[in-house]
Amino acid sequence: MNIRWVTSILSLLLAATIMGTAALSWSVYGAFRKMVDADVQYQGMLQISHELLQSSYNLTRRVREYVHTGDPAAEAEYYAILNERLGRIPRKAERIIAAGESISMMRLLQRYGASGAGVAFLESALKASDDLAKTEIEAMRAIKGKAPCPDGLHPGVSDADAAYARELLFSAAYRKEAQNIVALVNSGITGILSMKREEIAAHERSVLRSMKALGVSIGVVFLIAVGWGWYGARKISLPLQETTRFARRVAEGEDVTSIAVSGHDEIAELRAMLNIMLDNLKKNAKMLRDLSYIDPLTALWNRRRFREVLADELRRVRREGGASFGLAFIDIDSFKAINDTYGHAAGDMVLRQFAKVVRRNLPDSATFARLGGDEFVLLLPETDEEALRGQLEQLRKACAETHLTHAERLIRLSISAGGYVFRGTATGSDAPEEMERLISDLFRYADTALYASKQEGRNRVTLWHPGCSLPCSRAAARPESQGEAQDAEEA
Ligand code: GH3
Ligand code: MG
Repeated sequence: MNIRWVTSILSLLLAATIMGTAALSWSVYGAFRKMVDADVQYQGMLQISHELLQSSYNLTRRVREYVHTGDPAAEAEYYAILNERLGRIPRKAERIIAAGESISMMRLLQRYGASGAGVAFLESALKASDDLAKTEIEAMRAIKGKAPCPDGLHPGVSDADAAYARELLFSAAYRKEAQNIVALVNSGITGILSMKREEIAAHERSVLRSMKALGVSIGVVFLIAVGWGWYGARKISLPLQETTRFARRVAEGEDVTSIAVSGHDEIAELRAMLNIMLDNLKKNAKMLRDLSYIDPLTALWNRRRFREVLADELRRVRREGGASFGLAFIDIDSFKAINDTYGHAAGDMVLRQFAKVVRRNLPDSATFARLGGDEFVLLLPETDEEALRGQLEQLRKACAETHLTHAERLIRLSISAGGYVFRGTATGSDAPEEMERLISDLFRYADTALYASKQEGRNRVTLWHPGCSLPCSRAAARPESQGEAQDAEEA
């Protein structure tokens, strides 16, 4: 499975968690909201019920007060309570209702959700209360001489009216009815309040259920997400760490070959790319190294590379003890004159052609390099003096026979060479300083021999031998045709 899939599934799980959490939270909120609403209704009912009960007591108290004292305020308050309870006058502003609305207490209770048997009880209580109110109003009218006593009407203020009114309000029947009303109100209130409490409890249970479902769902999805995240992290981060370590080793220049590629995911692709990059890097490094070893004009090895080859050869002959190789410096005669006469481009052409001629005449085992300017060096493995001289003579002749032209003018090529044969012994150190010293000695011998060739008149080969010292003239071998040597110099 690739990284895109791992992260996509993780994102889906997170999205599902967020959406699921939001949906379940909404349902918890809904259940909680219903519970709060039910509680608000319960508080409202509690207040109205209390008011209802209180109004029953107050009606009795006010009517009796009026009958005793004749205080019109008590009468006015009696009617105010009655009318408010029946919804005939606007209610005072309270927590449970906006100011000014005319609404009976029963309707108010129903508005707050009162229902069922409790309401039926309350309705019968209010009906009974209304009936009792008729008696009470009768008593108040009697006091004013407006209601007939059992023995007839007594206009004005009379004791008979007062006695009749008291009889109405303190009779056993009145008391019994008032108690009955209070009992009905009480049981009605108890009924509707207990129903509301049950409703609140049901909402509470619903809230708890929703919260449990929310918790379990979040827990399950969270566990899945954690598990998947862990799997994803292992799938992504471990191979990434390993790849980073590999890349760091490459960056630090360590000689690493490649990193293992398995699977088809992005990391496998990244690793495959890293391997290709590493391959290219190595190829480019090799190419750069090769370029740094090559002389751009002649495409021969340069001095640096030649010294390495020579050092290897030195180590070989020393290791093999008794093995030998020939080393020779070759220099074009009077090359400066060619430059001066035909121009620098012609000089370059001569250098290139010279390199070709020499290469054509050398065995595969030979190493031929340009030291700089018109000076070249040759290494011939497994060579004695005779073979070295023979090879150098062959080169000298091949050059002498090479006729180059520039701008339809003939340029003749002549070279001088100085050689030396080194025979290895199994002694001596292979330490770099020792090698450098030895190479410098060998170069000096070959250079001394070359110098001798030049001194002797050029176009010749000289071999250095122990005991030979500058100018080494006696060791120089004179070519048959001296005329050839004068070519470029004379030009
Ligand atoms: P001799 O016979 O003693 O070797 O004389 P020579 O003129 O060959 O020797 P010298 O060292 O005086 O001249 C070498 C010349 O080679 C000098 C330099 O300007 C020229 N030269 C060096 N490098 C290049 C090159 O890359 N191209 C060309 N055309 N000339 C070069
Ligand atoms: Mg020269």
